[in-house]
Amino acid sequence: MADVFKGVEPMVYNSKISVPYSWWAGDTASKFFISLRDDQKIIAPRCGTCGKVFMPPRKICPACFTENTEWVDISNEGTVISYSVARRQLESIPVDKKTPVIWGLIKLDGADTALMHYLGEVKPEGVTIGMRVKAVFADSRTGTIRDISHFKPVK
Ligand SMILES: [Zn+2]
Repeated sequence: MADVFKGVEPMVYNSKISVPYSWWAGDTASKFFISLRDDQKIIAPRCGTCGKVFMPPRKICPACFTENTEWVDISNEGTVISYSVARRQLESIPVDKKTPVIWGLIKLDGADTALMHYLGEVKPEGVTIGMRVKAVFADSRTGTIRDISHFKPVK
């Protein structure tokens, strides 16, 4: 240590930095997001070996290690297989979502896996496992998962 620092107490402060960055979503996610944005249609890749349909989309089947190159239309409707309620405004919750926020694990008809997304137009006490829900698309779509605003109960 240089003599000039002798006798100086080392001070440590905690802070946060913001690091803007961009990344390529990849061909699989890009195809899915473009379909949401431009066609308001939910599409999913299907494994050519075992036939499983992945929502959210996966490039490679985790069971067969086959590249999923075939795409199929799946329904905008599905079943809630689990859910959770956030009653505090966490940092990860977008500011346009008012608490309580409900996240649902939704298995869309035609898919073999489930998608995590917001449940809306329902109170937490109204949500049940097995409940039928339908995608509500955002009015303004930009090619993200939020192009689906939320899933609402099917009446
Ligand atoms: Zn497979």
